[in-house]
Amino acid sequence: MSVFRLSGFVVAATLMSGSASAQELSPGYLDPGPVLQAAADAIGVTNLRCVAISGSAYAGMVGQQRLNGYEVDWPRGEPLTNYTRTMNWDAGTMVEEFDREPGQNPASWKHGLGWRGGTPLQRNIRQRFVVNGEYAWYVDGPGSEPVPAPPEDADRWQLDMWLNPHGFLKAAMMPGANPKATWRWELGEMGRDGATTVPEKVTIVSITVLGKYRVDATINSENLLQRIHTWVPDPVLGDMNYEHEFTNASYVDLSDGVRFPAGWHQHEGWDDNFQAQSVNAGHNAFGGTLADIRINDCNDPVTVPEVVRRAEFPVVVTTRELADGVWLLGGSSHNSVAVEFDDYITVVEAPVDERRNLAVIDEITRLLPNKPIRFLVNTHQHHDHIGGLRTYMHIGATIITHWKNYDFYTRDVLNYSPRTLDPDMVSLWPPTELAEGYQYETVRENYSLNNGERSMHMSYVHPLTHVEGMLIAYLPTERILIEADLFDSSSAGVPVPTRVTPANRSLFNHVRRLSLNVQTIVPIHGAPVTWSDFARLFESGR
Ligand SMILES: [Zn+2]
Ligand SMILES: [Zn+2]
Repeated sequence: MSVFRLSGFVVAATLMSGSASAQELSPGYLDPGPVLQAAADAIGVTNLRCVAISGSAYAGMVGQQRLNGYEVDWPRGEPLTNYTRTMNWDAGTMVEEFDREPGQNPASWKHGLGWRGGTPLQRNIRQRFVVNGEYAWYVDGPGSEPVPAPPEDADRWQLDMWLNPHGFLKAAMMPGANPKATWRWELGEMGRDGATTVPEKVTIVSITVLGKYRVDATINSENLLQRIHTWVPDPVLGDMNYEHEFTNASYVDLSDGVRFPAGWHQHEGWDDNFQAQSVNAGHNAFGGTLADIRINDCNDPVTVPEVVRRAEFPVVVTTRELADGVWLLGGSSHNSVAVEFDDYITVVEAPVDERRNLAVIDEITRLLPNKPIRFLVNTHQHHDHIGGLRTYMHIGATIITHWKNYDFYTRDVLNYSPRTLDPDMVSLWPPTELAEGYQYETVRENYSLNNGERSMHMSYVHPLTHVEGMLIAYLPTERILIEADLFDSSSAGVPVPTRVTPANRSLFNHVRRLSLNVQTIVPIHGAPVTWSDFARLFESGR
């Protein structure tokens, strides 16, 4: 019966509209064809093969916030000066070059997502980041060896090439783009436009880019793209809001009817701090004034270096027994430490991403079979240190963290929101009754685990720098202290510190205040060092 009714409705709708294309459009949808054509004509898409935009820019450090829930934006790294981005859509290449003060950031990081501690720091001023198809790499200083970028970075950089007006409209014309359009009224963006009172009717066209990203562009009444939006996968936040914005006024008239925006900014994370959708609502990740625009100067081919073409990124887990039943799980930029108690295992730190943590957990269960991993101690909320929190939720561990991290983790990280781009264990197999159990131990100042012969003492390190909500773990019998980012020791490519940093001083003072009798520091970044080697920094350094 219902089938007949449905057919009757379709026939009636077709008769009333009388238009061929309207037949296929559901209520609320528009024909994207004319909208895309008008937008392409407005900025001369067919006349632009490649572009180089230059100026200065800022770089937001996504996931490196110092406070939790009180900041409205990602912290900014050193400014990017003499910045140039070259995009060649026919060749599928994008090159970003800039000057930045060395010594502060990982050399592998340019802006936005991808900030990863424990990797080699930038050593030279001039930086180059390149993507060619699925291959990506960076060069720290002219003449330096190209360093391959991991697939998740390569994927995002490649996507960036299409998240600008010309890139989007070119992608919309490609096979498989499958454009769809709808409309809405917008009152403008408060921060940019002020309190506008007259709504503007805009069209939003969505397409599929690189076969998997659903990207939409907001096209205004002047046929200009003002926002391009999509989601990217992130181990901490899941499907993460990712958008580029341009103002009408920023479009510059160039030759051959080409117009290109000279003002640019990018959000990573929701830009709605006051709507409580997100506790950790940083958003501005990149932006700048890029007013020097050169078009169709495409004679500089970008070839993929052999070392990049051959690069592999296996998950390596090395093990080292630090004391009886205390294991360092290394082999990456970030360590984890497994500690055996009589009835259970406690792991300190779940860094990077799920792939790493599943491999670490497999190794721990091989070393110590048939014992549950009961607790996961989390040092702090920086995203490169919590990419595996959900993995420990998946295996049923209770998370020990400072209380300041609780709201962020509960609402934004350890939730059952769908993750469509890179689904993880919790999103694929949500432990739906877990909330009835025992998911957190939140620490204010001190917290202890005691079981059999073993004790472990967690304490809150007052923040002089780096981050609030920082915990360290101490094993009094073994005299081992496990800490993150308060002191990084040497590892491949990371120089041993020669100067005392404020973070070093926090750790030093904390250990003295609590009268911890530390013999060995086990950093999450680097190899274990003796306390006396660390303390020596304070004699010479200052
Ligand atoms: Zn770190
Ligand atoms: Zn950190």
